[in-house]
Amino acid sequence: ILVILGILFLGVALWLSYFMSKRAMIPIRKSFDRQREFVADASHELRTPLSILNSSLDVVEMEDGDQLSDYSRKVLRNMKDEVKRMTHLVSDLLTLARSDSGVPELKLDSFDLVPSAIQLVGSAQTLANSKEIKLNLQTPESLIVNGDHDRLKQLIYILLDNAIKYTPSGGEVDLTLTKEQIEKQSALHITVKDTGLGIPEEDQERIFDRFYRVDKNRSRQMGGTGLGLAIAKWIVNAHHGTIEVSSIPGEGSTFSVNIPVYDVEEV
Ligand code: ADP
Repeated sequence: ILVILGILFLGVALWLSYFMSKRAMIPIRKSFDRQREFVADASHELRTPLSILNSSLDVVEMEDGDQLSDYSRKVLRNMKDEVKRMTHLVSDLLTLARSDSGVPELKLDSFDLVPSAIQLVGSAQTLANSKEIKLNLQTPESLIVNGDHDRLKQLIYILLDNAIKYTPSGGEVDLTLTKEQIEKQSALHITVKDTGLGIPEEDQERIFDRFYRVDKNRSRQMGGTGLGLAIAKWIVNAHHGTIEVSSIPGEGSTFSVNIPVYDVEEV
């Protein structure tokens, strides 16, 4: 009888502590939800005044550009750069706040990733040319994947942009896309390799954290927000994939993404 009573007592105590801890979590969860909503709402509200500021600066530049002194023109240029940086930051914050609350869901689609990769390399070419960086793309003729088209483009853009930003003039950046078939399932591999600054080993895990930057000043000068890789990681996780970095300081970095892409019928 004593043993049965003991087991009963233990069961009730365990159930009570589980119940109490669940109840205690409710206000904490609510407070997190409120914080997420606040960041999402604030970012959303900031977009309109920022786009008005941007177009007003364009108007001033177009209408009065010739009459401005060199100094005023320089101030105007700085203002435009800062507005652009802030717009980028606000849009990154909004993406992360929405991803925290599970919104938006991925829009799964079946598409060829190769034309998008060619287009992304084309857009990155201007920045690469300005630093005399050689940009190489290796892909099969076509690469049909199932995933969120816009998000996968955003992921490649973030990795390419970083590779060019953190590679000194005269370097090289390779974007490689491949697809590997393992039984019924295929895996998409995206590799972005650069010959840039590299990332010290102790920082390699933390670069995927929000606002983590190895060198704050350098990132800011490059127009970085410190949120790019956090967004990249979220996109990869949402596709049930993995992202890894291997890097040797002074020699370069390689970011490797693996994403399972299912046969069309299974999506
Ligand atoms: P940022 O906007 O600062 O580039 P990210 O989240 O994209 O933010 O990257 C975080 C940090 O990781 C960067 O500030 C930089 O220090 C480092 N980093 C990212 N990609 C590279 C790369 N290809 N080479 C060297 N450092 C990199």
